[in-house]
Amino acid sequence: MNANAPIKPPLAIDTLVLHGGTFRTDPATSAVAVPIYQTTSFAFESTEKAKRISRFEEIAYTYSRVANPTVDAFEQRLAQLEGGVAALGVASGQAATAVAVLALVQAGDNIVASQGLYGGTVNFFRERLKQFGIEARFVDSTDPENFRRATDGRTRLYFGETLPNPKLTVFPIREVADIGRPLGIPLIIDNTASPLAAKPLDHGAAIVVYSATKYIGGHGTTIGGAIVDGGNFPWADFPERQPLINNPDPAYDNRSYVELAAALGGPIAYVVRARAAIVRDLGPSLSPQNAFQLIQGLETLPLRLERHFSNARTVAEFLSRHPKVARVIFPGLQTGEDKRRADTYLSGGYGALIGFEPTGGEQSALAFIDNLKLVYHLANIGDARTLAIHPFSTTHGQLSEAEKAAAGVTPAFVRLSIGIENPVDIIADIEQALARV
Ligand code: PLP
Repeated sequence: MNANAPIKPPLAIDTLVLHGGTFRTDPATSAVAVPIYQTTSFAFESTEKAKRISRFEEIAYTYSRVANPTVDAFEQRLAQLEGGVAALGVASGQAATAVAVLALVQAGDNIVASQGLYGGTVNFFRERLKQFGIEARFVDSTDPENFRRATDGRTRLYFGETLPNPKLTVFPIREVADIGRPLGIPLIIDNTASPLAAKPLDHGAAIVVYSATKYIGGHGTTIGGAIVDGGNFPWADFPERQPLINNPDPAYDNRSYVELAAALGGPIAYVVRARAAIVRDLGPSLSPQNAFQLIQGLETLPLRLERHFSNARTVAEFLSRHPKVARVIFPGLQTGEDKRRADTYLSGGYGALIGFEPTGGEQSALAFIDNLKLVYHLANIGDARTLAIHPFSTTHGQLSEAEKAAAGVTPAFVRLSIGIENPVDIIADIEQALARV
């Protein structure tokens, strides 16, 4: 047995999380756990090699802002799990969205985005992109044709979330991807709330972004993010629509990213630009320490998700029968087109997020949260522990009334992120808090 020979796919997802990527053992020590390569820099073999690597003519480690072996092991495993050709680990989910978008836009361009997005993403698109002269056009994704209607000659990308919370109506991935593809417009999907449950690349998305802070890390310990390149988008066919990928970049001897990717030998033009132009110049790199934590998270992700999903279904059904609950929002309990989309795109599970409105309105929602004992009151999702929050006054507080309404954030809305505790204890806590409102 060659301890360093990578295991070749096809492997099942729950095997890939442990064995995916080229890392098998540490070449220096035969360590089996991916070591934390806590180093800023890597020594060059020769001046000739140093020059080639710095110009991205050859891939090798030089400096951990650009690439690092621990981060690389995380990136390779995630890319394989997602069915992509390569991934890029970054410092947070916000960094993933920012880098993913900035790789394709410049002043004067616009993007078309779903109204159903994480509040921080909305704020970044609306306020920060504006600083750079880039316009974000928000559309209602209930009708996918709204994306086409908002498109013009300077539209560079479409953006949506598979399972946007708190509304929890699943994004029409195939429908929007199919509108963009003939126009040369890629669909970027934030799959943070539905890792493994949804495979956006299988439905035509070109790029997937994650806040790895949530389910991938899984324990509420680590901020991180990632971008996965599907390698399935024909960038070179759209030189006018995608100038930043196709035009010469003076920073790399006037070569384009299509040329650089061809020389490196893969359909990786987009992710090479994201790494070589955006992360290298702006610096939101994932640290090796955090990449190590995220690898630990990935290894148990399928097991944890099974429990997250079954607990969520149990809690959603409990809430839907409770006399003090007016409305429960959970993909598995939807009807009509929403249910069809949930069944199509969440083929691996309906997720672990639930919204509900108590019959007593906003005051009851606030009292419910204040009376929880086991469930934590905090602004996160995807922790192993069950979490609750009032989005109207917190996570979505920066949005206008109209934007809150479009995102499904009513004053009475409580968001639950169901953890992996014993479901009997989760329900007992919810029951006692509802008894006090
Ligand atoms: N995308 C979604 C769907 C999120 O829920 C979040 C954070 O809550 C983010 C992106 C941003 O991720 P991070 O907090 O890791 O920057």
